Amino acid sequence: MQIEQRHLTREGVQCAYQKLLDGGRFMIQRCGGCVVSVFFPRELCPRCGGTHLEWIEPAGLGTVYSVTCVRRNAELGGDYNVSIIELDEGVRMMSRVESIPATNVKIGLRVQAHVVVNGGRGLVLFTPVPGAEGVQ
Ligand SMILES: [Zn+2]
Repeated sequence: MQIEQRHLTREGVQCAYQKLLDGGRFMIQRCGGCVVSVFFPRELCPRCGGTHLEWIEPAGLGTVYSVTCVRRNAELGGDYNVSIIELDEGVRMMSRVESIPATNVKIGLRVQAHVVVNGGRGLVLFTPVPGAEGVQ
């Protein structure tokens, strides 16, 4: 019973995250104990084990930490990138940088998050910060 309950609660945190996202809000967690930012959403702080994780709205600014350009035929939508973005809050997340060619997404590029809601499902995507290196 104990295990089942914990499983339900964990689902609850990720559900809450997705629900916020579906409503157009990108939120991460912050530990009330050691003040570290936490992502992906969880129940326990990975640093101190604290259980008081609160939702905070990140500034949405980050830096490309790593990037992979996935080649795809133009008729299937063309190349796209899969990037790991490190938010200024210190957490990393997998996403995609849009609005510039996939091959122009470089490590260190400054990016800004935005939420796209498609068919009721929210998704965090990034675009280069205006004036960032390589962006005209
Ligand atoms: Zn903590």
